[in-house]
Amino acid sequence: MALLLKNVRYLDWYNFSIVEGHVWVEEGVKGKMQILENLPDEIAPDTEVVDLQYKWLTKSWVNGHHHIYSTLARGMPMPEKTPENFTEILQKIWWKVDKALDLKMIEASAMFAAMDAAKRGTTFIIDHHSSPNAIFDSLDTIAQAFERVGVGHLLCYEISDRDGLDKRDEGLDETRNYLKYHNALVGLHASFTVSDETLERATELAGEFDTGIHIHLAEDAADRSESIRKYGAAPLERLQKYGVLDMPKSILGHAIHLTEEEKKTIAQSKAWIVQNMESNLNNKVGVFQGDLFENKVFLGTDGMHNDMLRSAQAAYFTGLNHEEMSPVKAYARLRAAHWYLSNNHLEGDGSNNLLVLDYESPTPVHPMNFPAHFIYGMDSTHIDSVIANGRFIVRHGKAVNVDEKEVVAKAQEQALRLWAKL
Ligand SMILES: [Zn+2]
Repeated sequence: MALLLKNVRYLDWYNFSIVEGHVWVEEGVKGKMQILENLPDEIAPDTEVVDLQYKWLTKSWVNGHHHIYSTLARGMPMPEKTPENFTEILQKIWWKVDKALDLKMIEASAMFAAMDAAKRGTTFIIDHHSSPNAIFDSLDTIAQAFERVGVGHLLCYEISDRDGLDKRDEGLDETRNYLKYHNALVGLHASFTVSDETLERATELAGEFDTGIHIHLAEDAADRSESIRKYGAAPLERLQKYGVLDMPKSILGHAIHLTEEEKKTIAQSKAWIVQNMESNLNNKVGVFQGDLFENKVFLGTDGMHNDMLRSAQAAYFTGLNHEEMSPVKAYARLRAAHWYLSNNHLEGDGSNNLLVLDYESPTPVHPMNFPAHFIYGMDSTHIDSVIANGRFIVRHGKAVNVDEKEVVAKAQEQALRLWAKL
């Protein structure tokens, strides 16, 4: 199967070149894409021809750090006493939510998150999952839900010592079982809830499967102080000691409370950084500054929502007040996850992952000013259709592989079950 997209304005995601013409898209994870000046004389019978009437066509987004497990928390009743700091936010909110999750809730969360993400232009999600009382099979449950919607994935389970060694071991087992059949990462919560022994076992597992570690690093000042108090070293020093920074698939989430020296160490390492600006603002943990490791920063939503354009705009507007920032820089961060995936030969983000933008501007759009349109003009309402691995997964704003009403109804049903347990 293939698609022939007639009459498009194709915007190259990397060099901003704009071509008016037609685009041929091959199906499959290894499928290719080709820009055609003229329509071919003969079209294979298994090719679907779609006239895009000169709408914009460009590469779709990747969410570099998500927690689909928080999907059902939107609007839930809050603790009577408002958490006063980040540690209390974890203890009173997130560690209560994740402990109450079962596989049905996880499935409903993953279905909604993937569907909502797809409708907002994302075709690949890197997720960091936690459900301490439903660890077994949690990763496969998420993978199957994502695949039903048509969204690619790189998953991990958030291994931690916070609920005791049995749960820690279950997390390691779930990761190992999943890694046997899938590309995935080894997840760790954060340095301050991970002992040296756990860090050693997790990095050994990552080495065995030639993958990397996905961990929260220095999100709050408490990660640093608790890590030093409990394990005698700052978070980055511990990750360095166990080789996390030597793994090119490693992802370090947040990276806020670091010294200049530590940032330079990361810049020279093989690991990548993921920025989650709105989550940082929401948790009042501080503001990310990426100047010292610019070309290794990509963006995530950290479970807040499923909209990568919104994340990029938040990185831009907040960044303007705290670091060197420009529309081109914010755009480059949005796109850096493509380099992470392609440099590591991880499939599912090939050139046949595309989005159709129905974007009319009151001013001319050209390669030099496209980043400004992206920051000041576009939002997810402009996303008309989305193609993943050469197949439409969203057409005219509607997910095509799932029944949207059913996905929403199931999520609401499971949200009520979850809230009743809290
Ligand atoms: Zn996170």
